[in-house]
Order: sequence, then C-alpha cells, then structure tokens
Amino acid sequence: MRWLTILALLLILVAAGPAAAEGDGRCPLLVTVDDLPIAAGSLHPEPAERQRITDGLLAALEKHGIPAVGLVTWNNISREGDLELLEQWLAAGHELGNHSARHLNYNNTPADDYIADIEAARSRLAPFLEARGSGLRFFRYPMLREGDTPGKLEAMRAYLAESGQRNLPVTIDNSDYDFARRWVEAGQDGDEAARRRIVEQYHEMLHFCVLHYRNTARRLFDRDVPQILLLHANAIGAEEWDRLFTWLEGEGFRFATADEVLADPAYAQDHEWVGPRGVSLWDRLLYRNRRAEARQAVAVLIAEQTAAWNRGDLEGFCSGYHQDAVFVSSVGLTRGRDQLLERYRRRYPDPGAMGRLTLEILEVEPLSGMEVSELGNSFPGAIHAMSVAARWSLAGMSGTGGDGGVRPAEASGMTLLVLERDIGGRWCIVHDASF
Ligand SMILES: [Zn+2]
Repeated sequence: MRWLTILALLLILVAAGPAAAEGDGRCPLLVTVDDLPIAAGSLHPEPAERQRITDGLLAALEKHGIPAVGLVTWNNISREGDLELLEQWLAAGHELGNHSARHLNYNNTPADDYIADIEAARSRLAPFLEARGSGLRFFRYPMLREGDTPGKLEAMRAYLAESGQRNLPVTIDNSDYDFARRWVEAGQDGDEAARRRIVEQYHEMLHFCVLHYRNTARRLFDRDVPQILLLHANAIGAEEWDRLFTWLEGEGFRFATADEVLADPAYAQDHEWVGPRGVSLWDRLLYRNRRAEARQAVAVLIAEQTAAWNRGDLEGFCSGYHQDAVFVSSVGLTRGRDQLLERYRRRYPDPGAMGRLTLEILEVEPLSGMEVSELGNSFPGAIHAMSVAARWSLAGMSGTGGDGGVRPAEASGMTLLVLERDIGGRWCIVHDASF
C-alpha cells in the first residue's frame, strides 16, 4: 500500500516537469558518497568483497563522467586494503572529505566530545590526502545531525571555520542505506525475486526523493537550483548506480563538481534549524522561512491590536483572539472572545479609562515538531503554534476601575500568548496569561 501511494506521488512529481536551469538547460547535481571506504562494512568483511564493491561504484561514476565527493568515516578503515580503496577514489579523480572517526550522533553527544572525534578524524585524513596531492576541504555531519541546541550548532560552526573545513550539506536526502542489508541478505538466501523487489523499491525511493527535493527547491527559490545527492558506498549501489545515473540524466540533471554546485547563491544561505533528526538543507531553509513568516504575522497582529486599543476600539482589540480563546488573569479564567470583550468593557468603560497601550515583544518561539514522509524520512513539521512573551504597559489612564476603585494612571505587567491559525489560516490568540 505504501509503495502504491509513493507511485501515485511519483506521477504527480514527474508531471511537474524536468529540471531546467541556466546554460545548457540541465540542472547541475553533485553526487556525494558517505561512509567510505565501505558503508554497512560489517556485511562485507572480506577485502576482496570490499574491492569488488569499490570497483562497481567507481565504474558507475566513471561511465557517467561524475566527479564525486566521498566522505570518509575514519574508523570504517578496519580491514586490510581499506586505505588502498581510498587511494583508488583519489586516483579516479574524486575528492574525499571528513565524515568523523566514530560516526557519532551529535544530538546525544556533548559538543566537546563530538568535536574531539571530528578532529581525530581530520588529523589523520588531512595528512593522508596531502601526501597524495589532494587536500581536505569538506566535512559532513553523520546522519546530517547538526545539533539539538543553537549552542551546539554554533560550537561546530566555529570549529569547522577555524579548522578550515566546510559543511557539505545534502539537499536530496533519502534512505538508500536502508536497502543495503536486505539486498545482501536476499542474495545470500538465493532469493532472486526478493532481490528484484528490493531493487525496484530502491529506485522508486530515490526517484521520489530526487523529484520531491527538486520541487522543494522550486518552491524555495522559484527556479531550479543545483542539488547535492546523498548516496552510500554500499553493495546495492555498486550494482544499481548506473541505472540511477541514467535515470537522473533522463530527468534533466547534469553531473557537476562541488565547486560549481556550491557557488550557487542558494548555498550561501544559513539555516538556524536545530532538532532531533538530520534533514535536507532545503527542509531547513523552508523551516526558516516558515518561522520568519509566522513571526512577521504575529508582529503584525500585535501591532494591530495595540493600535485598536489606542483608538479606543475594544472590539478591534478583541478581534485578535480566537472565538474560543482562554484568558488567564490573577483572579481566574475567562473563556471565549465575547466574554473577554465583556470583561474589558466592564473594566475600561470609555477610551479615557483605557489609556495608551505598549506591548514590547520579548520572545517569539514557534511550536512545532518533526513529521514523517511516506518513505519514513523525517522533516521539520509545520509551525502549528507560536508562543509570545511580552511586557505590556498602560499609561495615561483615568477614571475609576471596573470594580469602582480609583484607577492608577499607569500599570504594567507580563503576558504569555499562544497563537494558532484559525480555520481561515489567520493567526489569532488562543491562550493569554496576563498579570
Ligand atoms: Zn554516514
């Protein structure tokens, strides 16, 4: 059922049309290969098998004239002949980058330990490359996880800058690694039908991801943007890359160098996304844009509310609340926009009593989590709510309060607002706790 859904989605994506970029009309695409020398290496302990996989990968790249970047997981170099495999990648004209020593998950590793692991790998890989007339430029985060807090994101960015390594992002994220073990085991069992099924699913998954992220880039930039495809150095790839690359060419992609792809201004944009999973750069940038749009909408709403208050328009002020909004004050709860309006009318019977409102926004945070695609890939979810902390102050009030007591001329306090979109898509306040 899942694969039928994916086929339907594929048809929709194909209908969106082939890539069309500047120049010769084909869209540049960089192929990157993770977990060198051999991904899922425990499946292939024999040096001859590791050599055969490497031969298959390099042959497919050569056949299609592809200049790839391979990312080395230093502790994957565990068998006799593994360093020679890396030398073969270099000799074939590919570039190698750093993919850590132990392939740690940054999101559950303290920044210092994580950076020590990346540095351990760099300090071995860089001299290895320099001795062979190459150099180290790129780093890729294992599992694309760049940290779960802004502090960790920044710590690694500072380390990479000072050690002269550049984060090589992925734009076409996918789960090619998920097929490696099943494909090998089906072969070991002699189950050719299962193997053919796995191969078809492997291609359908990759086609879906390529087309999906091409469309995502179009949404982001209104044009075709050079892409970075993630693949792994595994046995199914050694057999199937030729077919994959042929399909990519048919879809209007042209294989390009890292320098050409990274020169596109899209790659100069910084994301700010921190979260539990590793995701495509395009998903990070989409999230950044959604967050900026939501912040802007909230700022506009609060400015409109303030203006309404300051012209004595309580109805206008309350129109910023959801009809079922809950207002929390020091004396209890008020439920519903109409009841809230009544409460304000009692407390502020005329514009003189209302005074002049200022709302100073102190923090605005989106509330969102991860979502999961049909293929099981995680991506940052929609922003379902916004939380706003603000300081309110009223000046120039006059008359008596709603309770009959003398009203002070000035007052101030804090407020925490939660906003959601109403059924028409408009941001409005659903919870307001003001003191
Ligand atoms: Zn990896």
